[in-house]
Amino acid sequence: METEHPDCIFCNPAAGTEICRNADGIVVLAGPARPGHVLVGILDHRPSLHEVEPAAAAGMMRLAAQVSRSIVRQTSAEKTYVVAIGDRDKHFHVHLIPKMNDDPPLGPHVFGGDGWAAFLPPHADDDAVRRISESVRSECA
Ligand SMILES: [Zn+2]
Repeated sequence: METEHPDCIFCNPAAGTEICRNADGIVVLAGPARPGHVLVGILDHRPSLHEVEPAAAAGMMRLAAQVSRSIVRQTSAEKTYVVAIGDRDKHFHVHLIPKMNDDPPLGPHVFGGDGWAAFLPPHADDDAVRRISESVRSECA
């Protein structure tokens, strides 16, 4: 356990919040919204996906998939939502949140009128969408 980052929930998880830690990443509890909600993070301080080495990102997602299977089995969830925001913690991570069979779809809340849409213009600039999409496509291997 690292001690130079005392406030980091991944380097120094509070007692009882570390679920597992291996070469692929760290799984912690951080104010779970419901049973089965966990965070799966990389091992070092790189808060955003574009800063993470591809092998570290792959390892973290391998761990996340393994943990997701376990959560679905334990909770009888339909699946786990996978959410990455990264506004606060220093380790890039994803939240795994069980979606139960009777839960309404989350997508409309994230992308619809009561979610992100409140902060975004009403319509994305089509030219910018196309330009960025083509640029990303040209850089995909
Ligand atoms: Zn840390």
